[in-house]
Amino acid sequence: MSGVIYDKLAVVGCGLIGSSLIRGARAAGVVGEIAVADAAPKARERVAALALADEVTGDIAEAVRGADLVVFAVPVLAMAAAAQAAAPALKAGATLTDVGSVKASVAEALAAAAPDGVFVVPGHPIAGTEQSGPDAGFAELFHGRWTILTPQKREDDPYLEAVQRLADFWKALGANVDRMDETHHDLVLAVTSHLPHLIAYNIVGTAADLEEVTRAEVMKYSAGGFRDFTRIAASDPTMWRDIFLANREAVLEILGRFTEDLQALSRAIRWGEGDKLFELFSRTRDIRRGIVAAGQESPEPNFGRDHRP
Ligand code: NAP
Repeated sequence: MSGVIYDKLAVVGCGLIGSSLIRGARAAGVVGEIAVADAAPKARERVAALALADEVTGDIAEAVRGADLVVFAVPVLAMAAAAQAAAPALKAGATLTDVGSVKASVAEALAAAAPDGVFVVPGHPIAGTEQSGPDAGFAELFHGRWTILTPQKREDDPYLEAVQRLADFWKALGANVDRMDETHHDLVLAVTSHLPHLIAYNIVGTAADLEEVTRAEVMKYSAGGFRDFTRIAASDPTMWRDIFLANREAVLEILGRFTEDLQALSRAIRWGEGDKLFELFSRTRDIRRGIVAAGQESPEPNFGRDHRP
């Protein structure tokens, strides 16, 4: 049992991630008072109905007043305006963090908005689902998953203590915590998350546009591979639009590499180079086994998702 780490937690944007964070923090008993600010009246209504917070408001400054930890859990391109709205009401000594999927641009926006005496420690939990909104969250979302913190390049003790405290908070929610440079984070996530989503959006779009194959046939005969892509391609459009725009450079760099590799694969198929295909498919199978062995994926059919709470 960790005990209370932050007397007051304020969450700005209480969707899937924000509400999971609140549920996890409550279950772990690591926060006292909880305030939520959300721009969407419907989300505020649900947060109140689910009794997720002591205070629910549309006013960011009101929610963050007196908070020891402020977490921005809005779409990436909404972070700057949210941080600016919070800034005048932040208490000295508060820690300011976020859960955005892109780090360099968000880290810059938070640092620009934060007044002196506030500790900015950007973060990203590598956990999620294709669902959105406060009803979709659950306390166990972060269990056994990684949260990456991208601290500023500061070595003073108060700042290092604030980083450690935030790491302890995430650990209390069941997460493993790593620290990383924000630009490196954006490159790593471009490979492991952003490019796979782009491929899924593209392949589902291509299937939907094929004139010789009807939409009904796509749905009726959708094989396992395609079905998995449709799950990914059902992810929130606002969130993913923002991710691609905010992580443009890293995504384009990785997309360039991917396109070259795809050309090589297409050549191997054209020239009947079965050995090349077999060698690649064997290597990728090992990567999948490595992910399962690292505890980051389930070996069960349908990835164990049928059993998710
Ligand atoms: P979500 O379920 O859509 O929730 C976001 C909430 O924030 C919505 O209620 C939204 O209202 C509200 N909002 C938007 N702009 C706001 C503003 N300026 N001020 C206050 N509230 C605002 O989103 P999510 O999936 O939790 O994602 C939140 C963040 O977590 C994103 O930055 C995302 O990159 C990151 N993340 C997501 C995942 C994932 O798998 N979903 C995983 C890791 C990290 P509206 O509906 O009116 O816009």
